Amino acid sequence: MITGDGAYIKKINRGLILSKIIEHKAVSRADLSKITGLNKATISVQVADLLNDHLIYETQQEHNVVGRRPILLSINRSAGYVLGIDLDYKYIQYTVSDLGGHPVDFHAVELETENYHDILKILIDQIKAYQEKWSASTYGLISVTIGIHGTVNNDERINFVPTYQWQNIGLKEDLNKELDIEISIQNNANLSAYAERVYQYHESNNLLCIMLFSGIGVGIMIDRKLHKGFHGYAGEMGHMIIRQDGDACNCGNRGCWELYSSEKSLLKKLKKHLHRTPLSYDDIRQLIEEQDPTTLEILEEYIIDLSTGLNNIINMYNPETLVLTSEILKMYPDVIEKIKSNLKSTVSEYGSLALSELGKKSCSMGACALAIQRFLEVPEVVLTLENTVVKK
Ligand SMILES: [Zn+2]
Repeated sequence: MITGDGAYIKKINRGLILSKIIEHKAVSRADLSKITGLNKATISVQVADLLNDHLIYETQQEHNVVGRRPILLSINRSAGYVLGIDLDYKYIQYTVSDLGGHPVDFHAVELETENYHDILKILIDQIKAYQEKWSASTYGLISVTIGIHGTVNNDERINFVPTYQWQNIGLKEDLNKELDIEISIQNNANLSAYAERVYQYHESNNLLCIMLFSGIGVGIMIDRKLHKGFHGYAGEMGHMIIRQDGDACNCGNRGCWELYSSEKSLLKKLKKHLHRTPLSYDDIRQLIEEQDPTTLEILEEYIIDLSTGLNNIINMYNPETLVLTSEILKMYPDVIEKIKSNLKSTVSEYGSLALSELGKKSCSMGACALAIQRFLEVPEVVLTLENTVVKK
């Protein structure tokens, strides 16, 4: 049993009530009491506070029901907004979400520069523009959460970003010098794993999200919480060695998994053997549809290397849910069945294996979801998207 002073208990109860209002979308005071186990007097006082803070609003049930129509409570989605940013190599994606986790503004830009100070300036200008744009609501733009494709330590300082070769960078401090808004820096795969759990796999307690893009990053959720490791660097599985004396990796080792199973490595191989540069996602889609033998052969080899790493991860974590995030795998028919046929070990067991539906938007959406959880001080968030929001 949790014990503590009155204010602490009140805060715990408020978080629980708010999280259930978000999850159930529209719920009566009586049902909140049943769901949370809190008595009706407590619910009544807390709801009054939340209404006063403009975080929830009341509606009357529309449907024909016998007797009095109950008053339902919903999250006031437009009370404030959060900004999630995916800072990838030469590419930045911005998602603004309302407090119900619905993306309301999406914007992606190609970066011409690799220079840290130029990118810092772009971020500052863009964040200021978003603050201005969303200032009219009760809480305005509440916070900014940035996903980094590299290691981020427990103090939210960037340790290393391989693609940019950035080491020991205080992005959060540099942004705080110029901006008057809460900033959070997180690893991209962690944010993606968080998005998968919050938006798609509500029931999953143990989830691994494997990001197969410029490298391989893995976000790990154990018992519904992000597992970050001692320094904050857990999940760098792209650098597990699958070929002794394999190709040299920029981490200092040889034969790392991401040299064979990232999309970057797959694209490099396809370009080389097809003698085609540039080679777009649309080109690859067409080659697969045409059953181009070279493309299919390379994809088959790719699936084998991918499965080798997956086999190792499965043995390490015995995961409930494995989510693969890749644009190219989405184009390849029956790819999940093909991967499963390579996972033959009698000891490596997992619950489910699927391709991510959130795809490349998972990082910035996870950033928004994490910001909502922190702002509302709720124990966890369960969000659902209206159809078509994340579809291209
Ligand atoms: Zn490596």
